[in-house]
Amino acid sequence: MKFSTPLNLFILLFLCLFTQATAQTLRVGAAVRVITPDPLLPVSGGIGTPKPSVEKKGDLFARAMVFEQGNTRFAIVNVDNLGWTSVLGNKSRALIKGIAPENILIGATHTHSAPDAYGFPDATGKNFADLKYLDRCVQQIADAVNEAITKLEPAALKVNVEEAKGKIAYNYYAPALYDPRCGVIQAIATTGAHQGKAIATLVNYAIHPEVIGSGRGILSPDLCGPLYSRIEAQAGGVALFMNGAQGGMVTADTRLEYGKEGQSSQKEANTWEECIRIGELLADEALRIINKAPVLDSPSIYCTSKMIDLPVDSEMMRYILTKSPLKYEYKKPNTVSTQLNLLNIGPAQILTVPGEALPNVGYYVKRHMATKMPFLFGLTNDAFGYMLAKVDYNSFKRYDYVTRTSLGEMTAEIYMDQALQLIQVSPKPVLK
Ligand SMILES: [Zn+2]
Repeated sequence: MKFSTPLNLFILLFLCLFTQATAQTLRVGAAVRVITPDPLLPVSGGIGTPKPSVEKKGDLFARAMVFEQGNTRFAIVNVDNLGWTSVLGNKSRALIKGIAPENILIGATHTHSAPDAYGFPDATGKNFADLKYLDRCVQQIADAVNEAITKLEPAALKVNVEEAKGKIAYNYYAPALYDPRCGVIQAIATTGAHQGKAIATLVNYAIHPEVIGSGRGILSPDLCGPLYSRIEAQAGGVALFMNGAQGGMVTADTRLEYGKEGQSSQKEANTWEECIRIGELLADEALRIINKAPVLDSPSIYCTSKMIDLPVDSEMMRYILTKSPLKYEYKKPNTVSTQLNLLNIGPAQILTVPGEALPNVGYYVKRHMATKMPFLFGLTNDAFGYMLAKVDYNSFKRYDYVTRTSLGEMTAEIYMDQALQLIQVSPKPVLK
């Protein structure tokens, strides 16, 4: 079509103005709650009896960011814990007003120095989870989201994905097999007293926050604590951390010397100072990556979800699910149902992962996403152990542990299929 006459030019101008005027304003709000237990509680780094803690390094948090545009509203929450199951997540969802439960994404940072939120049973079926503490966390998570809703304000966005440089993460099983990409989303106030300032900065990166671990008598958000503090000191607003595909075995690079895989702990620096070094370095890299991104004045957002079923083939995982005091309810025999979310935020596309996907699974899903800015939110909405491709399952001796602590051979295969289907039926992110 040609717009050669003055009348047509006038119509085009009118349409442009009309489109501009009706573009729906993005609003973003964020809020934080401290969930450090007082008195301190034992900490859990995985299956087994939690270990007593005698001191804390930093606080544990629930951190929430809410997005709204027209009729679309969704929340992203991160919790400083090893894993946060849907049994707990759904209790918070029921307490949140004004956001559909399926539009609430709750992810665990995977710190190995926080109270047991699974209720891991021992060999006799006994567990050591503090259910009152978990109930308080459920309320605090809902409070953080509800407060973030009240703080919604007009926002612009910055979005970027780039490699984070420096000694941050590596793969303990095979040093170079990890994803160095760091995704960052920053919401910036466009009106009011804080105009031009950050409302929130979300960092997405795959790493095991296990610098301190569970065997040191220390309760801690691990490297996530210094990451939050550094981002908030430098950029203002609220910092969030969503983990990525960090399974088998992408961990913090605390090696004192580079070299062979699987070095002994004597050659690692497992200290709070190392949490500060890595947390602050990741924060600085995230800020470097986001500072160069253009400001998007009218970005579009989109949120969808679906439930997917995963068979529980592992006897040990069945034992945990049946004996845990959280009372996980099977909808079908030996099959768990979990919420999978897809978000578009400006040019970024985000998929959730209900566990610890191995990095090759992460690469595969990201490669099929309709964007150059793919994000994966690992351990989000559920945390059902490791997720290995079927060819990796029960293969290398090195994979014995991650095989034993996965639901089964087909977990990652079903996830990848379902994730790719969700990408196919969803709109592409808008590149502006
Ligand atoms: Zn893990």
